[in-house]
Amino acid sequence: MSVPRIRKNDVVIAIAGASAGKTGKVLQVMRTRGRAIVEGVNPVRKTLRKSQDHPQGGFVQKDAALDLSNLMPYCPSCKKGVKIGKEKDGKRSVRRCRACRHSFDG
Ligand SMILES: [Zn+2]
Repeated sequence: MSVPRIRKNDVVIAIAGASAGKTGKVLQVMRTRGRAIVEGVNPVRKTLRKSQDHPQGGFVQKDAALDLSNLMPYCPSCKKGVKIGKEKDGKRSVRRCRACRHSFDG
């Protein structure tokens, strides 16, 4: 296993699949399943049955999980998906963009 590249609240870009090129914030990482839910990426429309709340039926927009291998951290300086390296910064380790050294950990 490599460095855990993607965490909750990271901004990532989809690099494969129907949502390729879209960016969004990670809402949830399901590490055991190797998937993540990203805000606004990979939306699916779920049909609502007619009910008392929705007498006409309808749709709701939901974000479906994407495979972590289809996501890359999005570097705001490089404006693209980038590889990340881990560096020691004093006692903490910080994830940095390998191209421009932008820090992903503040
Ligand atoms: Zn960068």
